[in-house]
Order: sequence, then C-alpha cells, then structure tokens
Amino acid sequence: MSIKLESFILALEQEVANYHTPVVDLIAVQTRDPFKILVATILSARTRDKTTAIASRRLFNEAPDIRALAGLSEEKIRALIRPVGFFNNKTKYLCKLPDALKPYAGKVPDKLEELLKLPGVGRKTANLVLAVAFGIPAICVDTHVHRIMNIWGFVNTKTPESTEKALRKILPIKYWIKINSIIVPFGQERCKPVAPQCNCCLFEQDCPKMSCEYRINFHRKQV
Ligand code: SF4
Repeated sequence: MSIKLESFILALEQEVANYHTPVVDLIAVQTRDPFKILVATILSARTRDKTTAIASRRLFNEAPDIRALAGLSEEKIRALIRPVGFFNNKTKYLCKLPDALKPYAGKVPDKLEELLKLPGVGRKTANLVLAVAFGIPAICVDTHVHRIMNIWGFVNTKTPESTEKALRKILPIKYWIKINSIIVPFGQERCKPVAPQCNCCLFEQDCPKMSCEYRINFHRKQV
C-alpha cells in the first residue's frame, strides 16, 4: 500500500471534518457524564444514529442519572427507548444497570475489566466509554473500523477484537481515542459496507481494496 496508516488517519480526519458526527460523540459534546455516554452507547448498537439520539433524549428526560433510572419500570424504559434495535434486550440491560453499578457507588467505572462486567457492555462499548467519557486511550473497534482497516490492509483480521489487538501494536497512541470518530462517519457516508462510493472517494487512486470478502463483492456493489 502506498499510504501509511498515520498519513491515512490524518487525511481522513480532514476529509470527515464536515461529515455527520457519530451520535455518541454528539452526546459527549453536550455532556461528559459517563452515565449518559454509557447508556447512549448501549442504545446505539445496531441502531441508526438518528434513532439513538431521539431515544436517548427521551430516556434522559425521565432518567438523567442512575438513581432516576432505577425508579423506572421495565415497561416505561421499553416505551422510552423503542424503536432502537434489540430494544427488549437493551431494556433488560438498563434495568440491571443500577444494581450492576452498586459496587462502584452508582458511578460508571473507568477500568476496562470493570466495564466489561456491566450488562450489555462488550469491548466495543467499554472502549468507547473509556475514550469518550474518560479520555483514556482506548481503541473502539466497531464494524466500520474493522472493515476499513482490513480493506486498506493495515490489519488482516477476522474479528473486531483481533483488529483491536493488531491496532494496539501499530497505531500511535495519540490516535486511539479519536480513530473511531474519524472512521465511523467515513464508513457511514463514503466507504459504506454495501455500495461504497469509490468513484468519488478521495482515496480512490491509493486504496488497495483488500480483504477477501470485500474483493468478492466489490464490483457488484460499487456505485
Ligand atoms: S476507494 Fe472505495 S473501498 Fe477504498 S476507501 Fe474509498 S470508498 Fe472505501
């Protein structure tokens, strides 16, 4: 590949400056409250940003903190967050959250291992909370980061978790917190999983378009 990882990140950062901002980053700009960032991140899984934003606003109007969340019934939470994806599962996670946070005095912990014990929290969510809520260097690898890092051949991995491990070795730490915010808008608006817009992509000439799965589908899906 002709572009190095750091140059790619820097060029991409400029490219996405005017793209749509991911919802969790938007919520983080409005509040640095780890509780709200954690809940919004849980709600955002498999859900469009617009839907997450509406559901988060509705929920936070009724439950701005963990104590208020504990006072809501399961039915009420379900009604507030619907129609985020998997709202039944997410309702259960939110119902369990007050008890799960008791060992931390009702506060969201700032350690990966502790975050991973919370209901509905996997590595992607935990790393995003560490990075966005606490400013702790952590690489949040979602489907876009995993896919695009493989398309470019910066990593050659099968799972987001292995992509995270690989990136920990090759990505300078100063980019750990922001890599997700830079790549997600690009993956949502230009380098889409289906029908990537290569013809109007800044990187058309340099992109190696690697990753087997991507190559198989590439010509069929390109627009
Ligand atoms: S050229 Fe196509 S595959 Fe490569 S980064 Fe741009 S949109 Fe993605």
